[in-house]
Amino acid sequence: MTQTLLRGRLLSFLRAPQSLTDTESYRYEDDGGLLMQNGEIVASGPYAEVKARASADAAEIDHRPHLIMPGFIDMHLHFPQMQVIASYAANLLEWLNTYTFPEECRFVESAHAQRIATHFYDELIRHGTTTAVAYCSVHKTSADAFFSEAMKRNMRMVGGKVMMDRNAPQGLLDTPQMGYDETRQIIADWHGKGRNHVAITPRFAITSTPAQMEASQALAREFPDLHIQTHLSENHDEIKFTCELYPEAVDYTDIYARYGLLGNKTLFGHCIHLSDREADAMSEAGSVAVHCPTSNLFLGSGLFPLKALARRDKPVRIGVATDIGGGSSYSMLRTMDEAYKIQQLLGERLNPLESYYLMTLGNALSLSLADKIGTLDNGTDADVVVLNAAATPAMALKMEVVKTLPEELFLLQTMGDDRAIVETYVAGIAFKSTI
Ligand SMILES: [Zn+2]
Repeated sequence: MTQTLLRGRLLSFLRAPQSLTDTESYRYEDDGGLLMQNGEIVASGPYAEVKARASADAAEIDHRPHLIMPGFIDMHLHFPQMQVIASYAANLLEWLNTYTFPEECRFVESAHAQRIATHFYDELIRHGTTTAVAYCSVHKTSADAFFSEAMKRNMRMVGGKVMMDRNAPQGLLDTPQMGYDETRQIIADWHGKGRNHVAITPRFAITSTPAQMEASQALAREFPDLHIQTHLSENHDEIKFTCELYPEAVDYTDIYARYGLLGNKTLFGHCIHLSDREADAMSEAGSVAVHCPTSNLFLGSGLFPLKALARRDKPVRIGVATDIGGGSSYSMLRTMDEAYKIQQLLGERLNPLESYYLMTLGNALSLSLADKIGTLDNGTDADVVVLNAAATPAMALKMEVVKTLPEELFLLQTMGDDRAIVETYVAGIAFKSTI
């Protein structure tokens, strides 16, 4: 198979940056080369050295002066909500009942699910996202469309059919047995096929009966390597209603713990209003709190204490995500801009190195997939994004006075969107320019 050699400025993280001057936390090559073959990165480093290792017939693409980074990872979004985004609602529960649930009912039709899946992957690629963790609808047809389209594009995706058997319209309800059976079938059909990962996906405790939570627990026991994804502590009304439904639990987190769903592969969307006890429990279990800043602001859910959770004696693992369609942008750059502003409102600083770490290696570690994605290391998937910090006239003007890498990253995060994504490579293939 032929090789592809990219030339440009390379940036890849080695660990979480401790400060803006923590140059040991990342690898940066001003004139870098990245060699890809058979969907993997086979060499990266100074251009001259990598060029010397490349075969004579390697295709070479010169991306100078742009920045080459690992593809972005989005840890939480809803594939059936592409036509829910930008819906005007007072809060989470009104937004769900008025817009989201009726829209998700349409995914019982496979033609609709397939059409939206095509748009979904186009939008991810347009925004430089190469791996995403998604909720499908309750219908198996939606999961089939989601995974077949991922396979067609050879993307590394995580997803699952939501299980929900109460507090939603009839067209969106399964039963404990049906949710269990269909999830098992989706695992058999799709998990490990191509680069697909199936996640066990009880939507949240409000829409699952105790019997369905038990079915989720049974799946988690049978398939301990699978991710589990659900929602936790997003909004005060939601928390109150959930705790009324499970009066035996001491708090919202304890509901999931009681059903064996609090583990180190569990991804909890939001986690805005956790008590100390809940944060301790999450930390001890190694569960991940997934921060969805544009969604939290859009729905008025609250300010996620990212820095406070990360620096606890018992730190909580953190991921970052768009939460489409509660979220308002597919862009991880826009997402981290809003994450920055939320920390500002909390009197905290989120520096740009941390932001780009979180979008790449940080999220890969939170997914336990850092051996595959999130860096430019040899032997990992050749999922790569090329960024242009002078993509618009206003950005180009600001770039004239930018002097350091962190300043450039901060400009990209503050003003950038899909226009700043020059190219997105999926398993070594340039995709953005084809859509
Ligand atoms: Zn969500």
